[in-house]
Amino acid sequence: MDVTLTEQIKLTFPSDGQRKAAEQAFSAVTKRYAEACTYVSCYYFEHNCTGSAIDLHKVLYTDVRASYGLKSQMAISVFKTVLARYKTVGELMKQETVAYAVDGRHDTFRKSLDWLQKPVVFRRPQADLVRGRDWGFTAGMEMVSVNTLGKRIKCTYQCRPDSRLFDPAWKHGGAKLVFHDTDRNWYLHISVTKAFPDTGRSRITEIYGHDRGLVNLVTSCGDNGETVFQDGQGVRRIKERYARTRASLQAKGTKGARQVLKRISGRENRMMSDVDHCISKTLVSGCRAGALHVFEDLSGVSFQNLEDRNASGRYELRSWTFYSMEMKTAYKAAMRRGAILKVNPQYTSQKCPGCGAIDKTARDRSQHRYTCKHCGRVYNDDEVAAKNLRQLGIWYVSGVDNPHFSKKVSGY
Ligand SMILES: [Zn+2]
Repeated sequence: MDVTLTEQIKLTFPSDGQRKAAEQAFSAVTKRYAEACTYVSCYYFEHNCTGSAIDLHKVLYTDVRASYGLKSQMAISVFKTVLARYKTVGELMKQETVAYAVDGRHDTFRKSLDWLQKPVVFRRPQADLVRGRDWGFTAGMEMVSVNTLGKRIKCTYQCRPDSRLFDPAWKHGGAKLVFHDTDRNWYLHISVTKAFPDTGRSRITEIYGHDRGLVNLVTSCGDNGETVFQDGQGVRRIKERYARTRASLQAKGTKGARQVLKRISGRENRMMSDVDHCISKTLVSGCRAGALHVFEDLSGVSFQNLEDRNASGRYELRSWTFYSMEMKTAYKAAMRRGAILKVNPQYTSQKCPGCGAIDKTARDRSQHRYTCKHCGRVYNDDEVAAKNLRQLGIWYVSGVDNPHFSKKVSGY
């Protein structure tokens, strides 16, 4: 698996005069770049979100260069930036399953780009730079050179001393020129990539089942039989506070309120991203190298399962943050010769980990308890799912390609 991460460097200048000139050039190029992206995005949206970067290039290249003054490589990058953004949006929409009922029968489908109501607008002034063409290190990595609308700008920079940029095993890729509101400095977000060998089934050293929810953000069960809970209370409280603030600002509806709304939505996203980062780190760091992490595949769950597993509130956290946490766990696991496995979630919260009996009524939500009527064992309800997910992982490692539970063939 190729793992791609982002390393940030802060651009620094020897004098205020140079800083001012550079900042003007950076502002200009990122503003134009974002405008060009929005222009291309509108065209793409009006043409039903179809066509490749080459198709867009053929029709719009001359226009983009003439109207926005971008140099040739940057004009080409605009098409890639726009398509990449639509791909991400499409990926996110696919995570959402829409449920509907016709004549009392429930059915589901996944959302797609067809559901997009209006074109994606590129509001943040930032520009994507191609390594070697638009940006690069010079002077033995002492300095960095950045392309703008006019002259190239060379400057010094600051970064973490242990940055992967200095590790030759990580290859430098494209960079994003970004202004950080927090400290009012310009940064390059540079992607670095390293290939990690894929872990075959036979090389798996241990197996973890991870159940995700709201009460416990993650409940994990590993080879030692212990169950570890990561409490979601703190996060839930903060999310509720954000929701209240949002509601009162929306009710206000003034321009100032809208600005604050935008700011706090960014803050909330950053917080959730941090939470995902910490959780995935915890999941992976405590394990041996070569661990398999089993998650339920929530992207395609049917309505019945949604109803079962995601009563009240669960839905909200489900789509985006689960997806993002999965991605973060996947790359962190890969860096330690491990992997993630996504499995069909059916019956994972209904099956008794002790005797294998499937019983929908065994779960008592209010008490967070699962009581098996067949063997009498009692579990925490999230623990049941974690144990069952781990069981599916064991089946996978022993050679079952698409491990899942079914009512007909039950029992381990
Ligand atoms: Zn039982």
